[in-house]
Amino acid sequence: MNKNIHYQLEIRKYSAGELDKSRSERLESHFQECADCRNFYETLRRENAEFLNEHPFSSIFIPFP
Ligand SMILES: [Zn+2]
Repeated sequence: MNKNIHYQLEIRKYSAGELDKSRSERLESHFQECADCRNFYETLRRENAEFLNEHPFSSIFIPFP
């Protein structure tokens, strides 16, 4: 795993739609200035999308726009 990721756990929660609003907003502003975290988030989104293609858990997963 990439050691340059500052908010690895929070990004995982965010990508799963489990991060609370204030932390999500802090993370979003961090994405504006940190390519490492932003890339990590994009990677997670891709992994989630591929996973859901094979295992559609739409009842428990909150998709991100
Ligand atoms: Zn960062």
